[in-house]
Amino acid sequence: MTFDISNIEQQSQSLIQEAEGLISQANSMDELKQTKQDLMGDKSPLSQMHRKIGTLEPEQRKQIGRLLNEVKERIDGLVSKRREELEAQESLGQRQESQMDLTEVLLFSTSATAALGYLTRGHMHLVTQTQIELEDTFVGMGFFVAEGPEVETDWYNFEALNMPPDHPARGMWDTFYLNLGAPESILLRTHTSPVQIHLMESAVQGEDGLPIYAVMPGRCYRRDTPDARHIPVFHQIEGLVVDKGITFADLAGTIEAFTTAYFGSSIHSRLRPSYFPFTEPSAEFEITCTICEGVGCRTCSNTGWIELGGCGMVNPRVFDAVGIDSLVWSGFAFGFGIDRCAQMRYQIADMRQMLENDVRFLYQF
Ligand SMILES: [Zn+2]
Repeated sequence: MTFDISNIEQQSQSLIQEAEGLISQANSMDELKQTKQDLMGDKSPLSQMHRKIGTLEPEQRKQIGRLLNEVKERIDGLVSKRREELEAQESLGQRQESQMDLTEVLLFSTSATAALGYLTRGHMHLVTQTQIELEDTFVGMGFFVAEGPEVETDWYNFEALNMPPDHPARGMWDTFYLNLGAPESILLRTHTSPVQIHLMESAVQGEDGLPIYAVMPGRCYRRDTPDARHIPVFHQIEGLVVDKGITFADLAGTIEAFTTAYFGSSIHSRLRPSYFPFTEPSAEFEITCTICEGVGCRTCSNTGWIELGGCGMVNPRVFDAVGIDSLVWSGFAFGFGIDRCAQMRYQIADMRQMLENDVRFLYQF
């Protein structure tokens, strides 16, 4: 742009217009810096105009000097405004870049990649998964889930369940005692049945009331020497129903409904007479072999059936112990191993693998 004193006003206007266009097109700090240099640097038309002021008459010099200063301030303002815009954009971009995508799925959850040491997302242990599935099945059948302490007194673990100190049935469990003897033995519960006693006690004392339809999952302890089918810490789930007019047919029907709901419609249940001190009559319940579906195989010794757990009608002496009138109320109880259930469902040869925390094993489930 050449400097012509005769139309200085018009030139100033077009200089500002040109600056507006160039500054708005600058898309980075570097571009803006260059644009500012072009518009206001030593070689810019503005500087050239400034340099010629000295050749003018004093009156004109004052007037045009003021005009050019206004142009300079205007361009400065435009540059500052654009700089603020660019800074805001840049900081937004940095924030977006540093954000984590919490929905991203890691695709390394196989045993092979786990063994290679890739970072993988954890998941629940097989036993926990099985426990939750069992709880869901029973909740769907109208039961609620109850829990109780793992450290128990002799009374809750044995005596209230119709096993007095000299009862031969105590020999069925090798117990971990924490404090054997007077005034009362403290032990790690050998089964989840003590929770039945807690539930019935609080029902009688009016906290929850009767009837009871509950399942009680949890950890149990026995002095088993670990082998393929026994571990010293295992998980049981136990069911208790106390209501008026409950019969053995209700028990058999509940077991069958659970079996088909959990294992599938091709798996059924049957009861065989057995003995437990806290139920009378008692039964063992078996389900169709999940491997051969009843045809007969090595796992089920060619019978087509596998034993899952025990059950029976609540013994009136248990009702007596907690103060429930057995002439008015009746009920049934059942229980089985959660680990055993998982073992059968996933055909795990050795139960000890569930305790070993080997990720190559755990990642398969
Ligand atoms: Zn079989």
